[in-house]
Amino acid sequence: MTELLFYDDVNLRQCDSRVVAVGDDGIVLDRTVFYPVGGGQPGDSGILRLPDGSEIAIETTRRRKDDGALLHVPATPGNASGLRPRDHVVASVDWQRRYTHMRVHTCLHLLSAVIRAGVTGGAIGEGSGRLDFDLPDVKPDRASVEAQLNALIAEAHPVTPRWITSAELEAQPQLVKTMSVAPPSGVPRVRLLEIAGVDLQACGGTHVKNTAEIGPVIVSKIESKGARNRRVVVALAESAD
Ligand SMILES: [Zn+2]
Repeated sequence: MTELLFYDDVNLRQCDSRVVAVGDDGIVLDRTVFYPVGGGQPGDSGILRLPDGSEIAIETTRRRKDDGALLHVPATPGNASGLRPRDHVVASVDWQRRYTHMRVHTCLHLLSAVIRAGVTGGAIGEGSGRLDFDLPDVKPDRASVEAQLNALIAEAHPVTPRWITSAELEAQPQLVKTMSVAPPSGVPRVRLLEIAGVDLQACGGTHVKNTAEIGPVIVSKIESKGARNRRVVVALAESAD
Protein backbone atom coordinates (compact mmCIF):
# COMPACT_ATOMS: atom_id res chain seq x y z
CA MET A 1 0.00 0.00 0.00
CA THR A 2 1.32 3.40 -0.98
CA GLU A 3 1.13 6.08 1.71
CA LEU A 4 -0.96 8.94 0.27
CA LEU A 5 0.74 12.10 1.56
CA PHE A 6 -1.72 14.46 -0.18
CA TYR A 7 -4.34 13.45 2.41
CA ASP A 8 -2.12 14.75 5.24
CA ASP A 9 -0.93 17.88 3.43
CA VAL A 10 -2.60 18.69 0.14
CA ASN A 11 -0.04 21.44 -0.55
CA LEU A 12 2.96 19.07 -0.45
CA ARG A 13 4.68 19.31 -3.84
CA GLN A 14 7.36 16.64 -3.48
CA CYS A 15 8.51 13.79 -1.26
CA ASP A 16 11.36 11.30 -0.84
CA SER A 17 10.16 7.84 -1.78
CA ARG A 18 11.42 4.33 -2.32
CA VAL A 19 10.52 2.20 -5.31
CA VAL A 20 8.35 -0.78 -4.34
CA ALA A 21 7.84 -2.31 -7.80
CA VAL A 22 8.44 -1.48 -11.46
CA GLY A 23 6.06 -2.98 -14.03
CA ASP A 24 5.21 -2.46 -17.70
CA ASP A 25 2.20 -0.44 -16.57
CA GLY A 26 3.98 1.88 -14.11
CA ILE A 27 6.03 2.46 -10.97
CA VAL A 28 4.78 1.78 -7.43
CA LEU A 29 6.32 3.88 -4.62
CA ASP A 30 6.12 3.43 -0.84
CA ARG A 31 4.74 7.00 -0.47
CA THR A 32 3.66 9.68 -2.90
CA VAL A 33 2.28 13.18 -3.42
CA PHE A 34 0.71 12.12 -6.77
CA TYR A 35 -3.11 11.92 -6.80
CA PRO A 36 -4.46 8.98 -8.86
CA VAL A 37 -7.30 9.57 -11.35
CA GLY A 38 -10.66 9.24 -9.61
CA GLY A 39 -13.91 11.00 -8.77
CA GLY A 40 -13.75 12.94 -12.04
CA GLN A 41 -10.32 14.39 -11.19
CA PRO A 42 -7.38 13.60 -13.54
CA GLY A 43 -4.31 11.76 -12.26
CA ASP A 44 -1.25 13.86 -11.44
CA SER A 45 1.75 14.26 -13.72
CA GLY A 46 5.29 15.24 -12.68
CA ILE A 47 8.82 13.93 -12.34
CA LEU A 48 10.67 11.19 -10.44
CA ARG A 49 14.27 12.32 -9.82
CA LEU A 50 16.92 9.65 -9.24
CA PRO A 51 20.01 10.06 -7.00
CA ASP A 52 22.23 10.37 -10.12
CA GLY A 53 20.18 13.40 -11.22
CA SER A 54 18.38 11.69 -14.07
CA GLU A 55 14.62 12.14 -14.30
CA ILE A 56 11.63 10.04 -15.31
CA ALA A 57 8.70 12.10 -16.58
CA ILE A 58 5.36 10.82 -15.22
CA GLU A 59 2.40 11.36 -17.53
CA THR A 60 -0.39 10.36 -15.16
CA THR A 61 -1.18 8.43 -11.98
CA ARG A 62 -3.85 5.77 -11.68
CA ARG A 63 -4.82 2.67 -9.77
CA ARG A 64 -4.26 -0.79 -11.29
CA LYS A 65 -7.64 -2.46 -11.81
CA ASP A 66 -6.94 -5.88 -10.32
CA ASP A 67 -5.07 -5.00 -7.10
CA GLY A 68 -5.56 -1.24 -6.68
CA ALA A 69 -1.81 -0.54 -6.72
CA LEU A 70 -1.08 3.16 -7.28
CA LEU A 71 0.83 3.42 -10.58
CA HIS A 72 3.03 6.34 -11.64
CA VAL A 73 2.84 5.95 -15.43
CA PRO A 74 5.98 7.10 -17.34
CA ALA A 75 5.44 9.47 -20.27
CA THR A 76 7.81 7.31 -22.32
CA PRO A 77 6.99 3.59 -22.06
CA GLY A 78 10.00 1.58 -20.95
CA ASN A 79 11.67 4.65 -19.48
CA ALA A 80 11.53 3.13 -15.97
CA SER A 81 13.40 -0.05 -16.87
CA GLY A 82 16.56 1.14 -15.06
CA LEU A 83 14.69 1.50 -11.75
CA ARG A 84 14.88 -1.29 -9.18
CA PRO A 85 12.87 -1.97 -6.00
CA ARG A 86 14.32 -0.08 -2.98
CA ASP A 87 15.82 2.65 -5.21
CA HIS A 88 15.38 6.18 -3.82
CA VAL A 89 13.56 8.80 -5.87
CA VAL A 90 12.27 12.32 -5.26
CA ALA A 91 8.67 12.45 -6.51
CA SER A 92 7.70 15.99 -7.65
CA VAL A 93 4.18 16.71 -8.79
CA ASP A 94 3.42 19.18 -11.62
CA TRP A 95 2.09 21.67 -9.08
CA GLN A 96 0.57 24.23 -11.43
CA ARG A 97 -1.55 21.55 -13.10
CA ARG A 98 -2.58 19.94 -9.79
CA TYR A 99 -3.38 23.28 -8.12
CA THR A 100 -5.64 24.14 -11.07
CA HIS A 101 -7.43 20.80 -10.55
CA MET A 102 -7.84 21.63 -6.83
CA ARG A 103 -9.36 25.03 -7.61
CA VAL A 104 -11.77 23.63 -10.21
CA HIS A 105 -12.67 20.65 -8.01
CA THR A 106 -13.51 22.86 -5.02
CA CYS A 107 -15.59 25.09 -7.30
CA LEU A 108 -17.64 22.05 -8.37
CA HIS A 109 -18.51 21.46 -4.69
CA LEU A 110 -19.84 25.03 -4.57
CA LEU A 111 -21.78 24.42 -7.79
CA SER A 112 -23.45 21.38 -6.22
CA ALA A 113 -24.54 23.63 -3.34
CA VAL A 114 -25.86 26.38 -5.66
CA ILE A 115 -27.88 23.96 -7.81
CA ARG A 116 -29.76 21.68 -5.43
CA ALA A 117 -30.36 18.60 -7.58
CA GLY A 118 -28.89 15.13 -7.93
CA VAL A 119 -25.49 15.03 -9.62
CA THR A 120 -25.35 12.37 -12.33
CA GLY A 121 -21.77 12.93 -13.51
CA GLY A 122 -18.86 15.30 -13.64
CA ALA A 123 -15.35 15.91 -14.87
CA ILE A 124 -12.40 18.19 -14.18
CA GLY A 125 -10.18 19.46 -16.98
CA GLU A 126 -7.48 22.07 -17.42
CA GLY A 127 -8.93 25.22 -15.89
CA SER A 128 -12.53 24.12 -16.24
CA GLY A 129 -14.95 21.47 -15.07
CA ARG A 130 -18.55 20.35 -15.38
CA LEU A 131 -21.32 18.73 -13.42
CA ASP A 132 -24.42 17.04 -14.84
CA PHE A 133 -27.59 17.53 -12.82
CA ASP A 134 -30.81 15.54 -12.78
CA LEU A 135 -33.13 18.50 -13.48
CA PRO A 136 -36.08 17.46 -15.67
CA ASP A 137 -38.16 20.62 -15.47
CA VAL A 138 -35.96 23.67 -15.06
CA LYS A 139 -32.95 25.13 -16.77
CA PRO A 140 -30.87 27.14 -14.27
CA ASP A 141 -30.10 30.73 -15.20
CA ARG A 142 -26.45 31.06 -16.25
CA ALA A 143 -25.87 34.58 -14.91
CA SER A 144 -27.52 33.77 -11.59
CA VAL A 145 -25.47 30.60 -11.05
CA GLU A 146 -22.29 32.50 -11.92
CA ALA A 147 -23.11 35.31 -9.49
CA GLN A 148 -23.87 32.87 -6.65
CA LEU A 149 -20.64 30.95 -7.25
CA ASN A 150 -18.52 34.09 -7.26
CA ALA A 151 -20.22 35.28 -4.07
CA LEU A 152 -19.42 32.00 -2.26
CA ILE A 153 -15.82 32.19 -3.51
CA ALA A 154 -15.41 35.78 -2.34
CA GLU A 155 -16.87 34.94 1.08
CA ALA A 156 -13.67 32.92 1.74
CA HIS A 157 -15.19 29.83 3.36
CA PRO A 158 -12.70 27.39 4.97
CA VAL A 159 -12.53 23.99 3.25
CA THR A 160 -11.74 21.06 5.57
CA PRO A 161 -11.58 17.30 5.13
CA ARG A 162 -12.41 14.85 7.90
CA TRP A 163 -12.92 11.13 8.18
CA ILE A 164 -15.96 9.13 9.29
CA THR A 165 -16.62 5.39 9.45
CA SER A 166 -18.52 3.59 6.67
CA ALA A 167 -21.31 2.88 9.18
CA GLU A 168 -21.65 6.62 9.90
CA LEU A 169 -21.89 7.29 6.16
CA GLU A 170 -24.56 4.60 5.68
CA ALA A 171 -26.61 6.36 8.35
CA GLN A 172 -26.39 9.64 6.39
CA PRO A 173 -26.98 8.74 2.71
CA GLN A 174 -27.52 12.42 1.82
CA LEU A 175 -23.74 12.89 2.10
CA VAL A 176 -23.32 11.01 -1.19
CA LYS A 177 -24.31 13.52 -3.84
CA THR A 178 -23.10 11.91 -7.02
CA MET A 179 -25.78 9.44 -8.08
CA SER A 180 -23.50 7.62 -10.52
CA VAL A 181 -20.79 6.96 -7.95
CA ALA A 182 -21.59 4.20 -5.45
CA PRO A 183 -20.44 4.87 -1.89
CA PRO A 184 -17.24 3.02 -1.09
CA SER A 185 -17.97 -0.29 0.61
CA GLY A 186 -15.70 -2.55 2.59
CA VAL A 187 -13.39 0.31 3.62
CA PRO A 188 -13.14 1.23 7.31
CA ARG A 189 -13.41 4.98 6.85
CA VAL A 190 -14.66 7.50 4.33
CA ARG A 191 -13.44 11.02 3.71
CA LEU A 192 -15.83 13.95 4.03
CA LEU A 193 -15.20 17.37 2.56
CA GLU A 194 -16.77 20.29 4.39
CA ILE A 195 -17.07 23.83 3.07
CA ALA A 196 -18.14 25.57 6.24
CA GLY A 197 -21.76 26.61 6.06
CA VAL A 198 -22.06 25.68 2.37
CA ASP A 199 -21.54 21.99 1.56
CA LEU A 200 -20.72 18.66 3.18
CA GLN A 201 -20.26 15.50 1.13
CA ALA A 202 -18.18 12.36 0.76
CA CYS A 203 -15.21 13.04 -1.53
CA GLY A 204 -11.72 11.56 -1.96
CA GLY A 205 -10.28 14.27 -4.24
CA THR A 206 -7.92 17.19 -3.59
CA HIS A 207 -9.21 20.66 -2.73
CA VAL A 208 -7.93 24.13 -1.86
CA LYS A 209 -8.08 25.16 1.83
CA ASN A 210 -10.27 28.21 1.34
CA THR A 211 -12.81 29.07 -1.35
CA ALA A 212 -11.00 32.39 -1.97
CA GLU A 213 -8.14 30.41 -3.58
CA ILE A 214 -10.47 29.46 -6.46
CA GLY A 215 -10.56 33.05 -7.73
CA PRO A 216 -13.28 34.43 -10.02
CA VAL A 217 -15.10 31.92 -12.24
CA ILE A 218 -17.23 32.01 -15.36
CA VAL A 219 -20.21 29.74 -16.03
CA SER A 220 -19.43 29.20 -19.71
CA LYS A 221 -22.55 27.23 -20.58
CA ILE A 222 -25.60 25.38 -19.34
CA GLU A 223 -26.89 22.85 -21.83
CA SER A 224 -29.43 20.05 -22.01
CA LYS A 225 -28.02 16.54 -22.27
CA GLY A 226 -31.06 14.32 -22.67
CA ALA A 227 -34.55 14.83 -21.26
CA ARG A 228 -33.54 15.17 -17.61
CA ASN A 229 -29.89 16.16 -17.63
CA ARG A 230 -28.54 19.71 -17.45
CA ARG A 231 -24.79 20.09 -17.94
CA VAL A 232 -23.17 23.12 -16.26
CA VAL A 233 -19.65 24.07 -17.36
CA VAL A 234 -17.52 26.30 -15.14
CA ALA A 235 -14.12 27.85 -15.99
CA LEU A 236 -11.54 29.72 -13.93
CA ALA A 237 -11.38 33.34 -15.04
CA GLU A 238 -7.64 33.39 -14.22
CA SER A 239 -5.37 30.37 -14.56
CA ALA A 240 -2.82 29.42 -11.87
CA ASP A 241 0.37 31.50 -11.42
ZN1 LIG B 1 -14.19 16.88 -3.79
